[in-house]
Amino acid sequence: TKRTKVSELLQSTEFDREVLVKGWVRTKRGNKHVNFIAVNDGSTIKNIQVVADPNQISEDTLRLVTTGASISVTGKLVASQGAGQNMEIQASQLEVLGTADPEKYPLQPKKHSFEFLREIAHLRPRTSTFSAVYRMRHAMSFAVHQFFNQKGFVYMHTPIVTGSDAEGAGEMFRVTTLDAKNPPLTEDGSVDFSEDFFGKETNLTVSGQLEGELGALALGDIYTFGPTFRAENSNTTRHLAEFWMIEPEMAFYELSDNMDLAEEFLKYLAKYALDNCADDLEFLENRLLDEEKNKPATERSPMTLREKLQFVVENDFERVSYTDAVEILRNSKPNKKKKFQFPVEGWGTDLQSEHERYLVEKHFNKPVILFDYPKDIKAFYMRMNDDDKTVGAMDILFPGIGEIVGGSQREERLDVLRARMAEMHIPEEEMDWYLDTRRFGSVPHSGFGLGFERLMIFVTGLGNIRDVIPFPRTPGNAMY
Ligand code: ATP
Ligand code: MG
Ligand code: MG
Ligand code: MG
Repeated sequence: TKRTKVSELLQSTEFDREVLVKGWVRTKRGNKHVNFIAVNDGSTIKNIQVVADPNQISEDTLRLVTTGASISVTGKLVASQGAGQNMEIQASQLEVLGTADPEKYPLQPKKHSFEFLREIAHLRPRTSTFSAVYRMRHAMSFAVHQFFNQKGFVYMHTPIVTGSDAEGAGEMFRVTTLDAKNPPLTEDGSVDFSEDFFGKETNLTVSGQLEGELGALALGDIYTFGPTFRAENSNTTRHLAEFWMIEPEMAFYELSDNMDLAEEFLKYLAKYALDNCADDLEFLENRLLDEEKNKPATERSPMTLREKLQFVVENDFERVSYTDAVEILRNSKPNKKKKFQFPVEGWGTDLQSEHERYLVEKHFNKPVILFDYPKDIKAFYMRMNDDDKTVGAMDILFPGIGEIVGGSQREERLDVLRARMAEMHIPEEEMDWYLDTRRFGSVPHSGFGLGFERLMIFVTGLGNIRDVIPFPRTPGNAMY
């Protein structure tokens, strides 16, 4: 017999036939007459029940069938009367492939805290919660490619090691082959990067945007989807040092087209999760509901996970300019009596996350697209508006998450772009290749970045970005 995956088996309606299943033991219960073994092989959140009769399977073997052990089972697939399952396997042969000493195996059948599981990130895929998250990561990656493929976008690979810094935020990881303790020096005593591997200073990419623009101004619509690195020293539940970003870049787009695309994309992804990840979503939703029970009623979420996804699918996002948002915040009273101390330095400062949360979770109660930000708090490549004070930037803010998308209309006018770079002290000679796109056949274009892990926080309902990526990299933590 050929091995069948549990996901496939559970679709089956053909009973009383021999099957072969391999997987990991979740639980074993029973008595000296019969054993019930729940087996999971990672293909689905669901387990298959194996019934092992001590007359068929030796006591010595059954003793090794403990939580975490891997087994191979041959037997008859039969309809089951048991609650919560419609089939089970009556084992005729059972082999233990790898034992898991119950005294040492950390994942016993009980609910472990996220904090504990973060300490053993190498074993947490064995839990139901994390297998659900990682299967959904796969499903959502696939959905990203499907969305853009259906729209005729070209998937473009931008460099991981690069000499450019798109954001200018000084959050780059240096890549070098020089001896860090004893680097070659130039005559004036600074590090001589001409001796480095690439003959210049290089770093891990913080965004594929600048290179993506080159693609858009030739292929029309492109997107990148790859790892991105930021040496963020912020220990938040929303930032990683290594995260994945989806960055579409579109020629002949205005800012409103960009917002339309981003909104359509997020709705598509929410619907994709609802339609294709039903079992995993149901499991995660129940786990979250369990946790909510421990909270005071006022702090409990009024919507379940699936209701939140459905809400995004069905409701248009609110679009508000930065200037209008500032007015709303000025006139609001978040704490009944107290007004926001906002903005301390007047119009032109970046919104704090408490302001963003107020707008999204209290004032509008839905996703919000904020646009036309003050130029001084945004990157050099964003298109200057006619007022000379704001640029065509847009951020999408989600309830419970904050910024999920950041995007903008790109400055396509060579003279304006150069003036802006001079103002921000960005050396032109470093960016000559970029300016070529504006020198030759420049067109209006737009793009945005969606942080894949922020999306995963949304679709899984989990509260910490460290729990939606298999190997989280945060300050001081690069185990594995
Ligand atoms: P934030 O304000 O949350 O720090 P940002 O404005 O610095 O984000 P952008 O440069 O606009 O981020 O990047 C685009 C998107 O990438 C963000 O909207 C967010 O979804 C995601 N992102 C940015 N930084 C991180 C990070 N350190 N970890 C995970 N995702 C991130
Ligand atoms: Mg940031
Ligand atoms: Mg931001
Ligand atoms: Mg941003």
